[in-house]
Amino acid sequence: MPFVTHLECPKCQTTLDTNALHNLCPCGSPLLVRYDLEALAESITRDDLINERNDMWRYRAFLPVPDDAIVTLGEGMTPMLKAERLGARLGVGELLIKDEGANPTGSFKARGAAAGISMARVLGASTVAMPTAGNAGGAWSAYAAKAAIDCYIAMPEDAPVITQKECDLFGAHTYLVRGLISDAGAIIGRGVKRYGWYDVSTLKEPYRIEGKKTMGIELLEQLDWQMPDAILYPAGGGVGLIGIWKAFEELEAIGWIGSERPKMIAVQSEGCAPLVQAFEAGKMESEFWEGAETLAAGIRVPKALGDFLVLEAIYASDGCAIAVSDAEIMSALRRVSEDEGMWICPEGAATVAALEQLVADGFLGASDNVLIMNTGSGLKYSSVVDIDLPVLDIDEDIEI
Ligand SMILES: *Cc1c(COP(=O)(O)O)cnc(C)c1O
Ligand SMILES: [Zn+2]
Repeated sequence: MPFVTHLECPKCQTTLDTNALHNLCPCGSPLLVRYDLEALAESITRDDLINERNDMWRYRAFLPVPDDAIVTLGEGMTPMLKAERLGARLGVGELLIKDEGANPTGSFKARGAAAGISMARVLGASTVAMPTAGNAGGAWSAYAAKAAIDCYIAMPEDAPVITQKECDLFGAHTYLVRGLISDAGAIIGRGVKRYGWYDVSTLKEPYRIEGKKTMGIELLEQLDWQMPDAILYPAGGGVGLIGIWKAFEELEAIGWIGSERPKMIAVQSEGCAPLVQAFEAGKMESEFWEGAETLAAGIRVPKALGDFLVLEAIYASDGCAIAVSDAEIMSALRRVSEDEGMWICPEGAATVAALEQLVADGFLGASDNVLIMNTGSGLKYSSVVDIDLPVLDIDEDIEI
């Protein structure tokens, strides 16, 4: 295997080997993948990246997957766009949007799925199973199909229809649940006990974070290794934020960057804001959010297993957690479409709505270079956009 050495529990420091399928640490915490960073540093420099492949596997030195075991659909190396009109309107220095909607299956879940499915196959899993809010199911089903691994998916019956269709189309055994992702998780948990499936629920296997970690390396490479002042991230399970933070730690350890960090900002919806509630109370863990409801399906997660890791990154970076309403999400989504020609997902739009508030509060302003993560394509959520278009008879003219 590449430079991977072991799995480590961030809570109790237990270590586990990487030759077997693992889920959570016996203490209940997610596990993190650790590397021989000295050997990694000797093997590659920033300048060597120019010779690497043009997808997320250009960072394969930072990943646990052997070269000949990579399962890929071309994920990663997504656009980093300057949002000039929107940035000027919001009143920040430079506004950048990393467009993860350009990934296979239309969301950044592809990165986690590519790493997770590659490792599941390396370690001999024949069947994986997971609950999903929608996009993770679509992505993992696609990569499972590519890897010829059997896949069981349970999702809320109101998950975006296109994600239901993706899972079915990619051949996953797909079930709709009259409940939330947490209820779907309980059903999958019972199936895992009964049938011995490999449980690939968010953070219950260690490799999804590694795939999402590549966003942190990639965004820095695209910014010529200059840190933005703030990164706004729509947090459900918070995996991407944990992954980006982990990337920064590893890059500092090998000397590719210094100790500077952006303010890490987790954005949630007012209808499901457990991380915001915890942040506002100065806590290190969140409480289960009852009655979670928001049209931004990807961030409708009532309680995240890795909440303490997200909060740690927020506190350590002098960032914050902030909630916005569904109405604010929809008006931000329209704003971005009209200003930038990008149909972003509601989760991504939440970060734009949050940025507006943070500028109004003086938390961010004209001297800040801000990066927002658009985690998925708006095309997957066309049903949330209401339109009312004039209809012409064939002999009618356009009156302006
Ligand atoms: C899953 C998802 C999120 C939340 O991702 P986490 O890393 O689990 O917090 C945000 N946006 C979209 C589009 C998603 O699919
Ligand atoms: Zn532990």
